[in-house]
Amino acid sequence: MRTRFAPSPNGPLHLGHAYAALVAHDTARARGGAFILRIEDIDGERSRPAFVEETLLDLGWLGLPWDGKPVFQSQRLESYAAAGERLKAMGLLYPCTCTRAEIAAAATTFGPDGPVYPGTCRDRRVDPAAAAAWRLDVERSLTMTGPLSWTDEVAGRQTATPMMFGDIVLLRKDLPASYHLAATLDDAADGISLVTRGMDLFNATHIHRLLQALLELPVPTWLHHPLLVEPDGRKLAKRRGSPSLGDRRRAGEDGRTIAQALREGRFPAGISLSRGVHQTP
Ligand code: GLU
Repeated sequence: MRTRFAPSPNGPLHLGHAYAALVAHDTARARGGAFILRIEDIDGERSRPAFVEETLLDLGWLGLPWDGKPVFQSQRLESYAAAGERLKAMGLLYPCTCTRAEIAAAATTFGPDGPVYPGTCRDRRVDPAAAAAWRLDVERSLTMTGPLSWTDEVAGRQTATPMMFGDIVLLRKDLPASYHLAATLDDAADGISLVTRGMDLFNATHIHRLLQALLELPVPTWLHHPLLVEPDGRKLAKRRGSPSLGDRRRAGEDGRTIAQALREGRFPAGISLSRGVHQTP
């Protein structure tokens, strides 16, 4: 079995990341599996090599060593582009020129990521050269795959309901791939059999399951773990004042002691674990 920790190097890691890495690491170790580190660095605007360096140091300091070499999404852009072409050739992606404001004005329902795209460009003849994004025709995709399900080790068997997102963006002009496409392809490429990640990505799994069916990828099991939250129930974030792991490391704190406290469910004052967080990145 193989698990992974997949941070995006667009900021310093904090205690919430340490908890996510610990779940992936400890589960792999307990089951005699491998723990893979994948750096999700395709957002060129926000990714910084310095944060990658810090991530490697933080994991070593926490006593959570990964197996093999870290893998970098920035080195896999061809595979994302090829999958995009494959979905286009299947007639499942369409170009979209709508702006965020247009979508907000036209949307009539809300999904996990905010206003649900009402399908404005689905039947329009948009010049592909003018497209800001390519969207997945989710309904049409589901007619090809039929009903889908997936299994979370804690929440149990789930019926896949990707239509809750509307026709999501899979390719963007300003990015090599969307999170959904890159993460799904990489979990397959890395042979991940148990995807551990936070509850904030629970709903994203409905999309990932659909992409796996369309692209004929193996289907892992998932384990969406609770998130560390602040007293107001929102997940920890550096900008809201919790010190980063790097801050703690440089201040001379012992990373292994911190990891052990997280394992035992001992958290800093005001911080607790919650399964009730539903946000997507
Ligand atoms: N890169 C994502 C993040 O840092 C995690 C993605 C995943 O685990 O699927 O939030």
